[in-house]
Order: sequence, then C-alpha cells, then structure tokens
Amino acid sequence: MNVLALVGRVWQRVESNAAIEEVVEMAVDPFKRVPVKEQEASERAHNFKEVCLGYNIEEAKLEASRCLDCKNPRCVNGCPVGIDIPGFIRQLKEGNVKDAYGVITEYSALPAICGRVCPQESQCEKYCVRGIKGDAVSIGKLERFTADWARENDIKPEKTAKKNGKKVAVIGSGPAGLTCAGELAKAGCEVTIFEALHKAGGVLVYGIPEFRLPKDEVVEKEVENVKNLGVTIKTDYVIGKSITIDELMDEGCFDAVFVGSGAGLPRFMGIPGELANGVFSANEYLTRNNLMKAFDDSYDTVIHPGKNVVVVGGGNVAMDAARTALRLGAKVTVVYRRGEEELPARKEEVGHAKEEGIIFDLLRNPVSIITDENNWVKGVKVIKMELGEPDESGRRSPIPVEGSEYEIECDTVIMALGTSPNPLISTTTPGLDTNRRGCLVADEETGMTTKKGVFAGGDAVTGAATVILAMGAGKTAAKGILKYLEEK
Ligand code: FAD
Ligand code: SF4
Repeated sequence: MNVLALVGRVWQRVESNAAIEEVVEMAVDPFKRVPVKEQEASERAHNFKEVCLGYNIEEAKLEASRCLDCKNPRCVNGCPVGIDIPGFIRQLKEGNVKDAYGVITEYSALPAICGRVCPQESQCEKYCVRGIKGDAVSIGKLERFTADWARENDIKPEKTAKKNGKKVAVIGSGPAGLTCAGELAKAGCEVTIFEALHKAGGVLVYGIPEFRLPKDEVVEKEVENVKNLGVTIKTDYVIGKSITIDELMDEGCFDAVFVGSGAGLPRFMGIPGELANGVFSANEYLTRNNLMKAFDDSYDTVIHPGKNVVVVGGGNVAMDAARTALRLGAKVTVVYRRGEEELPARKEEVGHAKEEGIIFDLLRNPVSIITDENNWVKGVKVIKMELGEPDESGRRSPIPVEGSEYEIECDTVIMALGTSPNPLISTTTPGLDTNRRGCLVADEETGMTTKKGVFAGGDAVTGAATVILAMGAGKTAAKGILKYLEEK
C-alpha cells in the first residue's frame, strides 16, 4: 500500500441480492488513471449497448485530483477548440459539475460526443504533463462525465437574447455544421441548417456505431442543445438538388452560407470482382445499421450481415465496420496492408476489437474478389506485403511480396478505404473551387471559399478527418462569417 498514494475514499453502490451500500477504499496510484468501467468483451460482442460505462462522480473527482493545474497548460494547445481544460477540471475536483459544464460549453457544443470519440491520446492528453512519467489525466473521460451529468440533470447551455438581424444558411448537420450554427446563433444570427438525411448529426448518427456513441441519449440530446440556442434544422433537404446555394442566397435571402457537407463518398480499390454481390462500402454497411437500425428487429431495414466477413482497411471506420459485423453474428477478419504500428485507428478501438475476437491479418492487401457462379463473394485473394521506406505520410510504405498470393474464404467484403467529398455541391455552385482531391478550397483563417459569402469547413475541406477538427473548423468559419457580415 505504501507505494500507492491513498488519495480518496469512494462510496460505491454494490449491487447484491441484499442491495447493501458499502464503503470501498480506493487506492490511487497518482501515475495511473482511475480505471473506467466497461462492458465485458464476451458480453458486448453480442449487443449494441455502449462499451464504455464512464465514471461516476467519485471516480471523476478522484481522476480530476490527478490534474496538476499547470501554469502553462499544454493540454489546452492540444485541443482543436481550445477548451479551458484545467478550468473545468478545477471545478470537478471540488464537485462543482454544473460549473465544470459551464466552462466546457463556452468552447464546445458537443462535449458528451467529444468525450467519447475524440482521439484524445493524440490531442489534449498527448500534452498532459502527467503523461511524461505515467498516465496522462483522462481528460476525455472527465469531459464525458461532466456532459453526461449535465444532461441527466437537465442543465443546458445558455441561450443568447440578442439578435443581429443576419440570416445564415448552414449546409450539413455534422459536427462542423452544428458548431458553426451554434456559434452564430450565440452571436445573434438567425441560422437554418439544411440536412440531406432525415436525421441531424452527420457521421455521428450514420457512421459511428451505437456501441461507441449512443444516438438517442447522447447525439440527439446534444443536437437538441444546439436547437435550443435558436438554430432551425430542416432535414431531407439536399442542397444542389432541392435548392442550390445561389438560390439560397438570392431567393432565401441568406446573408452568408456555411458548407459543412462532409466527405461521404466512399473509395473502392478498383480490383477485379469488386462489383460482386456481398461487397459493401463501410459507409453503406454502417448507415444501414446505425441510421436505419438494421440491428433492431422492429425495423424493416435490410442488411447482409454475412457469416464470414473480411473488412479491408485499418482506420476507425474499419474497426467500426468489423465490430458491427461481429455483433451481427459474423466471424470477422481485418485485412490491412501495413503493420500493427501503422494502424490509423485509435489504439483503444483496436484493443476493444481484439478483446471482442476480431482477427487481424496485417501486411496483406487484396488483389481480387473471388465469386461463385451467381456472382456472390466466396473469398478474397490477398498478397503479402512488407514495409519499405517511409512515404510522404511518414509511415513506412507497403511493398508487395512477389508470388505470395493466397485466398481467404469469406462471404462478405466491407471496404473501409477512406472517403472524399461528394461533388454535388461544388458542381452546382459556380465559383466554388475544389482542389485535386475534390475538397472545397477555403481560407484556413476565416473559412471563406473562393465564392463571396460562402464559407466551408470540416471534412468537406480537409477530406476525412476527426470530429473535433470539424468542430474547430466550424468555429473558425463562424468567426469569419461574423466578420464578413459586419463589414458587408
Ligand atoms: P459529416 O459528419 O460528414 O456531416 C456532413 C453532413 O452533411 C451529413 O449529415 C450529410 O448528410 C450532410 N450533407 C452532405 N451533402 C449535403 C447536401 N448536398 N445537402 C445537405 N446536406 C448534405 N472522428 C473522430 O474524431 N473520432 C472517431 O472515433 C471517429 N470515428 C469515425 C467512424 C466512422 C465510421 C466515420 C465514417 C468517421 C469517423 N470519424 C471519427 C470522423 C468524423 O466523424 C468526421 O471527421 C466528422 O464527422 C466530420 O464532420 P463534418 O461535419 O465535416 O461532416
Ligand atoms: Fe480533448 Fe477533444 Fe475534449 Fe478537446 S474536445 S479537450 S481534444 S477530448
């Protein structure tokens, strides 16, 4: 016990037949984070309930007590929206969760979401001084706890009373659009979001699965918070088809437009057999399951769950597709052309996938899809790879090993190879330039595109990236729009 610093006593409700309450002494090693409860791997592999169960208030206070409240908090620089991290943790230490929430919501409209899906290990937590000799403070889990507590206690972000008479249209209701809209509403603008799908949230509702990000309890509630700031959301509006940007600005009388339409167009490999029955993009597979609830028997959504599924790719999207297929009852193999070190998915997600029984076949690349006489998938031919010198991404480049091809038997292939922006908006809006990757060209400082009064941010500009980077871009563009409206 003397090697551990005893910094807290935790009251824990012990669920037993007699339902007794018991005091549990919790010894906390200041170099180690307070562990967070999770659903058991063997259990969660068969359900879509959330894997991580989050901290309770005592655990959150204990973890908050590990924060050194540094004079120059480097963690803040690691957060793309610059949350006052020591500020909210200071409140948490004292048990002032409402005030902690107040601090966070000055900077972020979606903290329950970011606390769950931000790659904290490469952002805020990467720079935490505690991380030099031990575990970084669990900033994401504390943020999640604070936002969940606020929701459960019906605390909402403050609404502004002032109006500035300006109207702004926002295209897309993903994290970029929601953030930009929220910031503009707080500044007094009348904001309308136009969303192509029937539900608001972008990738948060159609891409990231329920077991990582619950839709009704978490995403919908944070979307509601943005609406409570005075933002109107019109769903089933496809800009470029229902109405164009020029029409919005001329007939809709909007003073400015923000494009946060994401990067929803999936890539394929262009290999033989890729058009076979049983080959899916991860986007389609995940959308059917998440947005259209294929996993829930009370919905009519059709999905081909597969018995033996190969997922191609190594990012978060590949992990989400693999873990979804597993929960739908399949044996799942992830095929990725680089090694374990190079897997772009969050380490936590790779760890969870392994615990649940996903097989990783690394340093392999598909060369063709093998089909039966009815053009259904019956296998994937892969070639072994080895790693050469680092390429422009800084990662070692995969090189095929000649003559090493072999077949992996499977009935379903899910391609999770990345996405790019849909060209619908750029091709229907004269003056809106794109780069060679099909992304909208926008000024980094203001979000202004090549068309006057039209701003853009998030995946539509960067290509597939992260929730918090999209939020940061939405915030930057909101500032750019306000300045533009002031000077107009
Ligand atoms: P989106 O979230 O894509 O939202 C764009 C919205 O615009 C969509 O709702 C779309 O329907 C709408 N739209 C498109 N075209 C039109 C149109 N013409 N008219 C009207 N509306 C339109 N990031 C993380 O940080 N952590 C993760 O763990 C993580 N996991 C991911 C898992 C998956 C499966 C996927 C696909 C992505 C993941 N990401 C993750 C990436 C992250 O979700 C995105 O970077 C982020 O959502 C981008 O936000 P956005 O607002 O730019 O676009
Ligand atoms: Fe870290 Fe993301 Fe929270 Fe910023 S928003 S503090 S990056 S978890």
